[in-house]
Amino acid sequence: MQRALRTLLQRIDDEMEQTESWTGRRRLAPEVRDAMAAVPREAFVPDQHRGSAYDNRPLPIGHGQTISQPYIVAIMVELLDPRPEHVMLEIGTGCGYAAAVLAQVVARVETVEVVPSLAQAARERLARLGYLNITVHEGDGYAGWPDEAPYDGVVVTAAAPDIPPALIEQLAPGGRMVIPIGEPYEAQELVVVEKDPLGGTTERTVLPVAFVPLVGG
Ligand code: SAH
Repeated sequence: MQRALRTLLQRIDDEMEQTESWTGRRRLAPEVRDAMAAVPREAFVPDQHRGSAYDNRPLPIGHGQTISQPYIVAIMVELLDPRPEHVMLEIGTGCGYAAAVLAQVVARVETVEVVPSLAQAARERLARLGYLNITVHEGDGYAGWPDEAPYDGVVVTAAAPDIPPALIEQLAPGGRMVIPIGEPYEAQELVVVEKDPLGGTTERTVLPVAFVPLVGG
């Protein structure tokens, strides 16, 4: 394994330990950690940032958007408790990095991006990298993606003031959603929503975060 990646995995392990009191998770599940190790982040960042691809921080990808911090991607996937048979919905494809990590540990990922050129670039990139179990859709993810619902898990990688109701509707009973909630560029909290078998939901706040805004809605 290349040294930059090994260092990144160590940083993520350290940050997991430091945030345990918030997240309730001391370590990544082995399959989630393996997924972080398997996805070549350098293939998701613009050329001029390639040297920083394995830094544990977000990087600009154009259109005022970013590729998420690796630790954040890892903890979001971890909190979904992904299983090999799961079908997941992601809102906010961006460059496709989180979708790729998720696709390593579940059966299928449907992902929605509102900026057409980002959606197209992510689609081409993920195809080139051989991800056959990810479908990139162009649209306003505030409405989710009803065509393939319900989902075993929903992950939103842009912050909304409230949980979009369509995303709750499209979550399967027993499913989970991980979503940053808060006003743009103000204090946001990562929230885990659980839908019980009867369709009721409970919410738990796990971590202060900083995401770009979810537009539209
Ligand atoms: N998941 C990405 C991070 C994406 S940043 C990663 O793995 O690095 C958030 C993305 O959400 C941006 O690309 C932005 O264009 C997109 N976005 C914002 N509002 C959206 C909406 N309503 N529907 C779908 N995508 C949205």
